[in-house]
Amino acid sequence: MKAFVASIATETNTFSPVYTDMSSFKASLYAPPGEHPETPTLCSAPFIACRRRFAELGWELVEGTAAWAEPGGLVNRATYEGLRDEVLGQLRAAMPVDGVILGLHGAMVADGYDDCEGDLLARVREIVGPGITVAAEFDPHSHLTQKRLDNADLLIAFKEFPHTDFVERADELVELAVQHMRGEIRPERSAFDCRMIEVLPTSIDPMRSFLERVRRIEAEDPAVLSISLIHGFMAGDVPDMGTRVLVITDGAREHGDRLARELGMELFSFRGRARPPYLPPEEAVDRALASDHRPVVLADVWDNPGGGVAGDATLILRELTARGATDVAVGTIWDPVAVQLCRAAGEGAHIRLRFGGKTDEKAGCPYDAWVTVKRVVPDAHQSFGDSRVPLGDAVWVNLDEGIDVILNTVRSQSFSPDLFSNLGIDPRDRHILVIKSTNHFYEAFAAISDEILYVDAGAPYPSDPRTTNYRKLRRPIWPIVEHPHGETR
Ligand SMILES: [Zn+2]
Repeated sequence: MKAFVASIATETNTFSPVYTDMSSFKASLYAPPGEHPETPTLCSAPFIACRRRFAELGWELVEGTAAWAEPGGLVNRATYEGLRDEVLGQLRAAMPVDGVILGLHGAMVADGYDDCEGDLLARVREIVGPGITVAAEFDPHSHLTQKRLDNADLLIAFKEFPHTDFVERADELVELAVQHMRGEIRPERSAFDCRMIEVLPTSIDPMRSFLERVRRIEAEDPAVLSISLIHGFMAGDVPDMGTRVLVITDGAREHGDRLARELGMELFSFRGRARPPYLPPEEAVDRALASDHRPVVLADVWDNPGGGVAGDATLILRELTARGATDVAVGTIWDPVAVQLCRAAGEGAHIRLRFGGKTDEKAGCPYDAWVTVKRVVPDAHQSFGDSRVPLGDAVWVNLDEGIDVILNTVRSQSFSPDLFSNLGIDPRDRHILVIKSTNHFYEAFAAISDEILYVDAGAPYPSDPRTTNYRKLRRPIWPIVEHPHGETR
């Protein structure tokens, strides 16, 4: 047997001014055939899973390109078409194959393409024809479209948010793909539209218990091959945005339809009560300053580069300096120009610096301060599980106000406290840490902090669907519509 593996992925915030082109992929991950690293990245774990399983089976694996860009604005049309055609060309050259296994994200939108993954899967199907296995792994913050369901046999999304299980899900996808290539299973896909959009962290209830139930069904129901919960991605203005349940059965379509509906309506019942409380900045800073814990983590949930925004908001920093807070470290604020100025000034220099607040009028003004350049680190990085996440060139500046700030050149949400320690700041030795992430930071920061506060600074992410100017989303979904399934629900 012979299979082809490739990965093209990013998450597109169609409202973000930080557009995505080839340089965005090259800054995060662009690995031509044979150059994918030994460690998996979030959306390219199928490479690692395939290498392992195919070596065991003695089957042949042809590796194509793997590309990942940090979430951002609309993908440049030529960039998407170029990457797509590169991978399709590699697939054509590898033909005939028995299977195609892809690492996707599922919320990629390019200029002219609302459904990049559907477009890619349809073209893959056209090349391999019917009867050949097409399997893809997705992020749950994606849009599940009919085109994807029509063209892939197997679609599996990460279950956990934070996405701690992306390697496990890749192993599961490859295992099912192997069974399908051998003709041992007949996957039928049943999807249910929950008609809602919500932030659904799985580290806490109700999602924690719900996931346990889903896993029990997968283990105990012999007809069920896999269940995926597509959370949806509210910053993507596309017709299919929203939460969905996907049940894949072994030839039991009606059973799958019923189960998808039942689980989907249960998921719908969690709306409005699935996320932890988000505090306004004033209240969060009050609580942090009054706390005896060290460090207190303030998570700026809406200036999260992982959601496609710039990550250069200064709102919480300004709230802290207005209160005279010291003993604070902020990681990170994206500002390539400020990094360049600091690098030129050199370590130890005391300079007047303007940083942050450049990309979105709602995210606060640039911050002006006298700073000391403490450290300059070329190609800095942080960890996310097993994967190494680039931060680009980064500098640690100490504001005369007594606050440390890390500025960086490659946008990345805050995943792990080592983003501070890699720059020379001991994160355990600060009273307050300010980070930019919605939920992926949680496990790693909970290991060093007993008090984590989620801060809703309100911008710049389109965080309230009721006021977001969607143009392509036409289906009734909660919370834009109170009763999208009818008055009785
Ligand atoms: Zn995600």
